[in-house]
Amino acid sequence: MLISNRIKNLHPYVPGEQPKDRVYIKLNANENPYAPSPAVRKAVLNFVKKTPIKMALYPDPDSLELHEKIADMLNKTGGVLCRAKVNGKNVTPDESDKIPFTVTPDMIYTGNGSDEVLSFVFYAFFDSGKKFVMPEFTYSFYPVYAGFYDIPMDNIPLNRDWTLDTKTMLEHAKKNTGGIIFANPNAPTGLGLKREEVRNMLLQADKDEIFIVDEAYVDFGGESCIPLLKEFNNLVIVRTFSKSLCGAGQRLGYIVASKELIDIVTTVKNSVNHFPIDALAQVSGKAACENVQYYVECSKKVVEEREKFYNFLVQNGFYVLRSQTNFIFVKKEGLSGDDFYKRIKGEGILIRHFNTPGIQDFVRITIGTKEQMEALKKAILKTVI
Ligand SMILES: *Cc1c(COP(=O)(O)O)cnc(C)c1O
Repeated sequence: MLISNRIKNLHPYVPGEQPKDRVYIKLNANENPYAPSPAVRKAVLNFVKKTPIKMALYPDPDSLELHEKIADMLNKTGGVLCRAKVNGKNVTPDESDKIPFTVTPDMIYTGNGSDEVLSFVFYAFFDSGKKFVMPEFTYSFYPVYAGFYDIPMDNIPLNRDWTLDTKTMLEHAKKNTGGIIFANPNAPTGLGLKREEVRNMLLQADKDEIFIVDEAYVDFGGESCIPLLKEFNNLVIVRTFSKSLCGAGQRLGYIVASKELIDIVTTVKNSVNHFPIDALAQVSGKAACENVQYYVECSKKVVEEREKFYNFLVQNGFYVLRSQTNFIFVKKEGLSGDDFYKRIKGEGILIRHFNTPGIQDFVRITIGTKEQMEALKKAILKTVI
């Protein structure tokens, strides 16, 4: 046999299209519409100009300085950008977002995008003998990893209002003893659980079962569960630079968890790729954390556009979920999701449609700049309404 048996079980993730045939307005991959901060661009240019030899040398395998900067950023902002305030050069969290302990660098792990981080997390904490629990509709990479590592899943349907059925998730997790994962806020619904709701889940869950919360979108209005790390050693929080830190191109994701769990994921990393964060990503990541006020402003702009777009959709009779993210999940009575997507694409704008039974009536629309959203509204008024 030319290929391994394992290959037959792979069902790879299909990312939002990145077409080259014409220039589209891209509202299909939940990328941030803003470029990284000027300080990040300057740091990268300076690195290449002033220390070119570092391009020839291996980077720090443990990304220690980057971990220090991420920890600083979390302590400073409380872990939710759009509720943090910028006063001159200082950023302070909303009172309710303060983290009741100091996040230290040994509580951080970074990887090549949170997709890679998640892959290592699956390898480290889920087992082929036990089902792990996840919502039926959530980030569609989780089932891909389950297939890749041959870990059985237990998909729990959402409530009728598209929120997570936390009660059933917990019941199944107790029975399966294989751990839990969900995104909060969830994708593609955009709906989030409050920190207190997650805390209640953690209080009821077995303490020796892993509990993973993917906070890819938390900066746009969710509640971070980082403060809960004080109480729960089985909690792993996965985050990314791709959405709120305008860094999808640099591939940086991270975990916040106890040192013990971080060490375990680091062991997985060192068994696969010693250097997942290249030198340039370390430089730009550090600079992004140091310039968090810029990203606080970007997140606020995204949230502002989201709220305007939400109102526009409601006023025009769409069924819209109340997003806490940088995208909106929406459907129009009498119009298939596929048609919705095609009509908007015809106007030069890409949005995302999932051909998945149960959610195929919806489209997922990333929030762009004010100008992009104006163009989108025009396209909707012209072709969808
Ligand atoms: C975008 C996204 C990720 C992956 O982000 P990368 O860091 O770009 O790999 C992870 N989880 C969820 C829920 C996402 O939406």
